[in-house]
Amino acid sequence: MDLRISDHDLAWKQRAKEFAEAHLFPQELELEFNGHLAPDVLARLRSAVTECGLNAINHRREHGGQGLTQLQQTLVNEEVGKATGALWAILWHPPLPLKDGTPEQIRDYLAPSCRGQRRAAFAITEPGAGSDPRLVAARADRRGGKFYLSGEKWFVTTGDYADYLLVHAHVDGDADRPTLFIVDKALPGVQIKRTPKFMHTYVFGHPEFIFENVELEERQILGSIGGGLELTKEWFVEARLQIAANCLGAAIRAAETANAWATERVQFGRAIRDFQAIEFMLADMAVEIMAAKSLVYRVAWEIDQGIDRKLVHARASAVKLYSSEMAGRVIDKALQILGGRGYMRENPVERLYRDIRVDRIWEGTSEIQRAIIGGQIKKRGLGPFTGWV
Ligand SMILES: Cc1cc2nc3c(=O)[nH]c(=O)nc-3n(C[C@H](O)[C@H](O)[C@H](O)COP(=O)(O)OP(=O)(O)OC[C@H]3O[C@@H](n4cnc5c(N)ncnc54)[C@H](O)[C@@H]3O)c2cc1C
Repeated sequence: MDLRISDHDLAWKQRAKEFAEAHLFPQELELEFNGHLAPDVLARLRSAVTECGLNAINHRREHGGQGLTQLQQTLVNEEVGKATGALWAILWHPPLPLKDGTPEQIRDYLAPSCRGQRRAAFAITEPGAGSDPRLVAARADRRGGKFYLSGEKWFVTTGDYADYLLVHAHVDGDADRPTLFIVDKALPGVQIKRTPKFMHTYVFGHPEFIFENVELEERQILGSIGGGLELTKEWFVEARLQIAANCLGAAIRAAETANAWATERVQFGRAIRDFQAIEFMLADMAVEIMAAKSLVYRVAWEIDQGIDRKLVHARASAVKLYSSEMAGRVIDKALQILGGRGYMRENPVERLYRDIRVDRIWEGTSEIQRAIIGGQIKKRGLGPFTGWV
């Protein structure tokens, strides 16, 4: 067994590290205290992403992406995941299902999105449909060769910044025909209802959208009528792997901050790391990170070896569940080691504490990941999780 990472792969990690330190970390406090970044700053960051070759790392080179392997993407996502305010979202990852679009969809949507000229947001969740997408009420009614989209979508991450949305709707209101529509935001009938505030500070918004009888052509369907859920699952798998790597980076940054403080801070005549209570917390944090990293890298490597799609789905859930919960535990301990300073917004650990809470909710809650894993165990036994490859 050879667990070494090649120099070429490590070079991607280093490139992302330098990018995060040079471009993302310096924006953290501005974002935290102003709640947003100015348009010229966002434009500069967008140029920096392209100049550093970190645009669309998840897409093939012929579509304008960087064509990174899953392991390389993981290494990049880990490094940028260290930034607070979800500044990792500055790097755009056009939704993976776009790669299966028609040649026109690839030309008009995917290729410009890879270049950073367009940006997509994914709209599935609704007031009445969260974990259970069959409850989606958004409908696309077919009339005279066109589709008329009506409904409401919530929590559309980056929906304020994006110029088009992938909207999950049921054709003619039939839950057996879930379908993804590519919807330009400028179309008549598309409207942002409101942009609520959330626990974290996030570089973009999560607005709510209303669609009122939006006229769509057949060519705006991504994939096939009824094929929307399968495409959405592909998006979930990718997003879950990304979340896991981001959480790993967040946990490492928090642990490093706490470890440095444990040496610097003196109370009762000695560095606080000399109290076993603190030392044990650091030990638990290190081991938890080690376990998560082993899991996240392993599954990324397996995907690059071409393991079965069903295994990928099952293991993406395991990786997301473990890494997001691990980050919650590690960052909580890091905050405790920092004492009152850990509770200050100017401290990255305080921001990470709020930032990573959503990772147990979005792209499938922890309970939904456990339900997926439990379902796989029922069907295939423990092998997919306790076995190897
Ligand atoms: C900041 C943020 C950004 C988001 N971005 C997007 C986005 O870009 N696009 C998008 O479409 N959505 C987005 N979401 C929505 C997110 O994916 C949903 O919030 C999530 O899937 C859960 O749905 P829900 O909030 O409706 O909770 P519900 O589904 O109502 O769940 C409520 C509780 O019940 C539990 N539960 C539900 N079903 C089961 C079950 N079968 N077994 C056990 N427990 C269960 C859940 O785990 C949870 O604890 C975002 C959410 C947030 C908070």
